[in-house]
Amino acid sequence: MPLNYKCPRCGKDLGYDGLCFLCRDRENRLNIKNYKEDDIKKVISNILNNLDKFAELESPYFEDFKDILANKDFISEKLQDICFKNNIFYPYEIYYKASKSMQKALLDKLLNTKDSSLASSLLMCLALAAFDDIDEESEILKTFYELYKNPPKWRQKLYVDTNIYAMSGGFSFDNDGKLQKLNYKQCLPLNKTSDLNLDNYFKLFKHRHITKEEQEKLIKESPVKVAVKREDTCPHCKGNLFDILKVDARDKRLKFLGVDGIITATCCLNCVGFYETPCLNTYNLDGTSKMLDTHIYKSISQDDTMENTFEDYYAEIKDNHLYLAQDFVPPFYGAFSDDVCTIGGFANFIQDSEYTTCPKCNKYMKLLGQVHMHELINYSEGTLYIEFCKECQMASVIFQQT
Ligand SMILES: [Zn+2]
Ligand SMILES: [Zn+2]
Ligand SMILES: [Zn+2]
Repeated sequence: MPLNYKCPRCGKDLGYDGLCFLCRDRENRLNIKNYKEDDIKKVISNILNNLDKFAELESPYFEDFKDILANKDFISEKLQDICFKNNIFYPYEIYYKASKSMQKALLDKLLNTKDSSLASSLLMCLALAAFDDIDEESEILKTFYELYKNPPKWRQKLYVDTNIYAMSGGFSFDNDGKLQKLNYKQCLPLNKTSDLNLDNYFKLFKHRHITKEEQEKLIKESPVKVAVKREDTCPHCKGNLFDILKVDARDKRLKFLGVDGIITATCCLNCVGFYETPCLNTYNLDGTSKMLDTHIYKSISQDDTMENTFEDYYAEIKDNHLYLAQDFVPPFYGAFSDDVCTIGGFANFIQDSEYTTCPKCNKYMKLLGQVHMHELINYSEGTLYIEFCKECQMASVIFQQT
């Protein structure tokens, strides 16, 4: 496709006349951020008037619903009640943060069904219902564990076990039923300094021009650094390794991570899509880290070597402009779109949710953040999911793409 047009806002080359998808989604987000109570009420009443279309593929009602969940953390008990009465269990997010009585109603339904597809939907709804207040005493946790230990007949038709279903709600459990939390409630976006002055284009934010010096200061002072090139090289392609995230958790915004130092996640950006398993590294709190051995898929490479096709992009990657935002956003802020990089919260897994098992303690790692490749290199695809085990000081980088 010839790129004859330019996005009127950010100047990116485009094959059509109009805004690029990043600017369009950004505009949408800024609009929703300004929603008042009445705007939200309107979204919910629109859904209620079109319940039959709510769950359809690319339903605008579902899109609106995801928007207010992601940007306003809004849930509607009325919507939950009406959906439950009408046997509507998709989109699962309807039941996010459901009350204890709704949780109980969903559990009763699950325990009384023989229908595997209904059971599968209910497991998803329950996982999401549990997220906000899950603890060792949670009935949802106990039931999921019981179903894991003594699987009912419908389990045979499901693709994964209940410990994997639980992941959609940000938790799982070990063989003894002990709770493991996989996601933080807190979420902070990684914004781009290069976007700061673009906001004026739509007059969504009226603020003064942010000078180049101020932009550089923001990046320099950001406790999260993205894609920092290292001196050591990848054993497969001989290209430079990158610290895809360097998170100084001593910053007050990042206190929720509970780490008194720097978390570093390292990988080779050229090869990360071709590893057989997540890319693991150990890190020290002083900001140093060491990548563990990785293997390239046999179908890709006979002798475990790769061509380094990334060298031309090093300058572009370095110039990524990403810095940690000041204000917290809801946990689902980055869960439904591929245009915001985030620390904490939920990720937008392109394929299935994937949580690395820590090789030292055998527990699941927690999600530290997600970085979309197109935020580093224009037009490139895929997302990096960064997870870590605080106790063992290990990090993992997973790559997924469509
Ligand atoms: Zn644009
Ligand atoms: Zn490599
Ligand atoms: Zn561990």
